[in-house]
Amino acid sequence: MASTNLNEEFLMEVGRPLSEGVNLAPCSHFRIGGDADYFFEAGTEEELVRAILFARENDLRHRVIGGGHNLLFDDRGYRGLILHNAVTGIRLQGPSRIHAASGSTLEELMTFCRDQELGGLEFLVGIPGTIGGAVYGNAGAFDQDIGQVLREARILTLSGEVVRVDADFFAFSYRHSALKKGGYILLEAVLEGYARDRVHIQEQLSGYRKKRENRHPPWEVACAGSYFKNPVLPSGEKVPAAFLLDQIGAKGMTVGGAAVFSGHANFIINQDRANSEQVRELASRLKARVKDRFAVDLEEEVIFLPAGP
Ligand SMILES: Cc1cc2nc3c(=O)[nH]c(=O)nc-3n(C[C@H](O)[C@H](O)[C@H](O)COP(=O)(O)OP(=O)(O)OC[C@H]3O[C@@H](n4cnc5c(N)ncnc54)[C@H](O)[C@@H]3O)c2cc1C
Repeated sequence: MASTNLNEEFLMEVGRPLSEGVNLAPCSHFRIGGDADYFFEAGTEEELVRAILFARENDLRHRVIGGGHNLLFDDRGYRGLILHNAVTGIRLQGPSRIHAASGSTLEELMTFCRDQELGGLEFLVGIPGTIGGAVYGNAGAFDQDIGQVLREARILTLSGEVVRVDADFFAFSYRHSALKKGGYILLEAVLEGYARDRVHIQEQLSGYRKKRENRHPPWEVACAGSYFKNPVLPSGEKVPAAFLLDQIGAKGMTVGGAAVFSGHANFIINQDRANSEQVRELASRLKARVKDRFAVDLEEEVIFLPAGP
């Protein structure tokens, strides 16, 4: 379909226009990426669902993104439609069930839980991004992950229906959920907290924040979190990727403007106008060295979105 027709059809179906040729670098914390052919920011669930259905019906390649904190966009951009999920809203049902729209941020969730005096989700503090991104990759920290507190959800299925599913549907494991199989879109998550007073919640949030500050790059450093998942050794033991990367002298390695963060070997950072090729080349050198030395295959946690199919 010609671009003008596509735009007109989209406007008719969704109610607001698409943008064309939008640079993706500001949409990812890596600050890397070329232009998306089409871009749309959905502010309501209805807009999000309609936009996805429109893309599916028109065979338009598309991807829903949240905060872009786990993504590496391609320097050549994205052939298709990037849908930025800005559908927010968090409410309480009953004494402890938290209904969070998938574009709400974990930071908004933390504020909500503290104000409502609901504990149990504090471990999520400081993880940047949206509920959708967090459920997709089963985000977590301090040996806990979001899958442990999710009770049910509303999703958009492959056949275009909005259905309610329980936690089993997601088959959560380390940095994995069924959403990764593709096609399913999280619309709302229902999470469970427990009654806890504000002072204790605040104390725990501060404690976790402090620990994170010691481990992670400062906020202004452009990156997408831990680059690799923690691997399981042939012996069955799970080992931090950063430990292996330290042994192979990762810190200080660079390719162009991409560098391994000096404070944590599992963070690749955009130090100086890096491009996606440089980040990926650095990652592949790190993988090769770890493979040579330990016979372990590191697997990327950061998701690379190629420009074309
Ligand atoms: C400084 C820093 C620290 C970090 N620390 C941690 C940490 O401690 N623990 C951790 O687990 N992660 C961490 N991360 C990674 C990142 O914050 C998480 O992966 C986060 O959950 C990503 O959310 P997002 O909204 O930014 O997702 P995005 O990066 O926008 O998207 C990630 C994936 O989710 C998919 N997606 C997004 N929304 C939906 C939806 N509604 N339905 C279906 N799929 C969807 C996207 O298509 C994409 O494939 C860190 C990142 C940074 C930059």
